[in-house]
Amino acid sequence: MNLGFYCEACSHRADAGGDCPNCEDEVLLDLADPDVRMMLQEMDAAAIRRRSVQLGAGAAVAAALPALVFGIWVQDSRGIILLWLVLAVGGGFVLTKLFGLKPRHADV
Ligand SMILES: [Zn+2]
Repeated sequence: MNLGFYCEACSHRADAGGDCPNCEDEVLLDLADPDVRMMLQEMDAAAIRRRSVQLGAGAAVAAALPALVFGIWVQDSRGIILLWLVLAVGGGFVLTKLFGLKPRHADV
């Protein structure tokens, strides 16, 4: 089975190996090699994890202000922490759904 060759950078496909015609210094990868396909999946998984961590951290920072304002208003330190956790986790979930990465090489 000939799966062809693939450029990781621009997703260009070709029947023969060699340099990518679109990219400088990119070599077409042989998709028949299971190690190549595994490497592409691992690159996707790492990028998705990185983005999820960034979005979760962003949600945690963004949730701090409303939780603090609410906590000061109700004079409840446990309320601050609880609301902050709920907003951070919920916000992280929503942000990941909206802005999370899809696998770049899913069709490989
Ligand atoms: Zn390319």
